[in-house]
Amino acid sequence: ALSAPFVRDWLLRCCDAMSEARVGLIDLDRAIGDGDHGENMDRGFSAVKQLLHDADGDQSIAELLKSVAMSLMSTVGGAAGPLYGTAFLSASRAVGEELDSAGVAALLAGALEGIQKRGKAERGEKTMVDAWGPAADAARAAADGGEDVVATWQAAAEAAAEGAQATIPLKATKGRASYLGERSIGHLDPGAESSRLLIAAAADAAA
Ligand code: ADP
Ligand code: MG
Ligand code: MG
Repeated sequence: ALSAPFVRDWLLRCCDAMSEARVGLIDLDRAIGDGDHGENMDRGFSAVKQLLHDADGDQSIAELLKSVAMSLMSTVGGAAGPLYGTAFLSASRAVGEELDSAGVAALLAGALEGIQKRGKAERGEKTMVDAWGPAADAARAAADGGEDVVATWQAAAEAAAEGAQATIPLKATKGRASYLGERSIGHLDPGAESSRLLIAAAADAAA
């Protein structure tokens, strides 16, 4: 099973991923939103990087996830800040001392639940739910199928990537992109893409 150093590694990879994806996420959000998603995420994860840097290294998985939640809530802004904040907070409440495959499934289900409680989006509305939903399902199936924790993160990451790609033909009915109506069709949702990258970072850290 994975323990707190894995989560720390995952989060540091998220910081790098958001910094690398900054311009790409801005471009995606410029097409169907207000063009700030890359900026928002990079700002948030820069704060997370600082937080991890300052931390003493004794924190539990739950404490790490909770401190990230607080940090994202106060720095990301826009729609994504409260949503990601709630995702990490709800995930922090779903995990135990270590992460086995069932723990990964619980973490992802917790994150999804937090996002949906906060944003009220269902699947198919062209939001980050379309990445976290399939990821949570795939992790649950992998855990129930006896896969190990590495394979479970891998399955989640693949499902998140497919889910994000599948937002392209969708019409947005939640968030800023919904103002475009039919014109939101044909574009990848920025929040689904950032979610894909965060989940991919976990699979990379676990591998
Ligand atoms: P803003 O739209 O306020 O500028 P961001 O650009 O940072 O905020 O984030 C936009 C992303 O937030 C969208 O691409 C979408 O994935 C996500 N989002 C917006 N509203 C919701 C919602 N109600 N539920 C889930 N995700 C949402
Ligand atoms: Mg935006
Ligand atoms: Mg904005």
